[in-house]
Amino acid sequence: MYKRILVANRGEIALRIIRACRELGVETVAIFSEADRGAQYLQLADEAYCVGSARASDSYLRIDRVISAAEIGNVQAIHPGYGFLAENAHFNEICRSCNIDFIGPPHEAMRLLGDKNSARRVAREAGVPCVPGSPGPISDEGEALRIAHEIGFPVLIKAAAGGGGRGMRVAANDLVLKSALQQAQAEAAAAFGDGTLYLEKYIERPRHIEVQILADHHGNAVHLWERDCSLQRRHQKIIEESPAPNLPQSLREEICNAAVKLVKAAGYTNAGTVEFILDQQGHFYFIEVNARIQVEHPVTELVTGIDLIKMQLRVACGEPLPFKQEEIRTSGAAIECRINAEDPEHDFRPCPGRIEQIFPPGGPGVRFDSHVHPGYLVPPYYDSMIGKLLVHQPTREEAIRTMRRALAELRIQGVKTTVPRQMEILNHAAFVEGRVDTKFIERTWPPSAS
Ligand code: ADP
Repeated sequence: MYKRILVANRGEIALRIIRACRELGVETVAIFSEADRGAQYLQLADEAYCVGSARASDSYLRIDRVISAAEIGNVQAIHPGYGFLAENAHFNEICRSCNIDFIGPPHEAMRLLGDKNSARRVAREAGVPCVPGSPGPISDEGEALRIAHEIGFPVLIKAAAGGGGRGMRVAANDLVLKSALQQAQAEAAAAFGDGTLYLEKYIERPRHIEVQILADHHGNAVHLWERDCSLQRRHQKIIEESPAPNLPQSLREEICNAAVKLVKAAGYTNAGTVEFILDQQGHFYFIEVNARIQVEHPVTELVTGIDLIKMQLRVACGEPLPFKQEEIRTSGAAIECRINAEDPEHDFRPCPGRIEQIFPPGGPGVRFDSHVHPGYLVPPYYDSMIGKLLVHQPTREEAIRTMRRALAELRIQGVKTTVPRQMEILNHAAFVEGRVDTKFIERTWPPSAS
């Protein structure tokens, strides 16, 4: 095991990684921006270095400064968390050239899967079903129109380098497609520095099912079953659960096995997530790989009893996976609510500000992963997450009851939060019966009406 690693992140995930390291006896070097100076979780690290001013592009995204902190801190490895540099193949490669392990996949696999077009190609070659769409990037309007007619409207325009639900546009006919192409290209170029687009058939009312995988450097790859992340706003998740409700066991196994096939074909190692959408007829399609630990990873930790951050460290330093596929069992049901400083009454717009008071919930079956404390200022520069509220119970019905109880117990004063909307969802018959899709929130609480 490593002696000392650098945590190249902030907030909730930095704290989560530091906690795992403390249990493993691994020393940690933390980094922070000026906006995070004095954050309480930094005190749990063995050392901490300031890497710049508040804006992420001046601090957490500065490869030169992160590497300098790693060199000065004399670490053997860097854990990138999620967001920031986590899926930056260039950073990953630089770590290796500096003789620092990157706790994640090799940069070649990251590059291959980070581009959604090449990821789709790998999936197709591995026999994993993809959403019908363009075989590669679209070069001009004429080609886009031809492909759209081939696969049939509505179509979804996506950015090859996309992430976080940005750069995606639905087009229902020629006219909309032409204007949406230009907008999507400009948006993708601005957001990702790459305006490459591709087309997919737009699947109506799909569910989002994703599979957690782990692969080591000895040729072993396993899945840790699925999470249902259909509850989204603006294509971003807000509630996740495992197991996915109303998913026949044979289909569940088929999806999970497809995920393992894909990561093996890509030469992937460490933890990762293969995302699929499931249409109303029960067909599943690969959409993308997230080559990192995800926000919602604790849902899987609760049902499998496997600590994914510790597994990431063990795999990165060369240990083989300590279990075989058939030894991975799930028990009960887990649900996560992402508690964000956002106003659900106004299209979930971020509401950064000072948390005057916070009373976290507890008791049997409750886990609250959060870096905030009374007086904490949610900075406007990064994501608006306050914490992740998780529950685990023997059945989904009991998990729902515990989540309602925990949401009611959680009191946050000073900023608006997603909690009232999450409580409404937990009480909604469609959720209780396990029949929501990715458009459920938008349909039930239309942004224009709020
Ligand atoms: P990002 O990388 O920006 O998160 P994804 O490809 O993962 O983009 O898609 C995010 C979400 O967008 C999915 O969970 C799903 O809700 C929706 N989505 C993606 N592809 C399609 C599609 N072809 N049809 C319908 N919805 C889709």
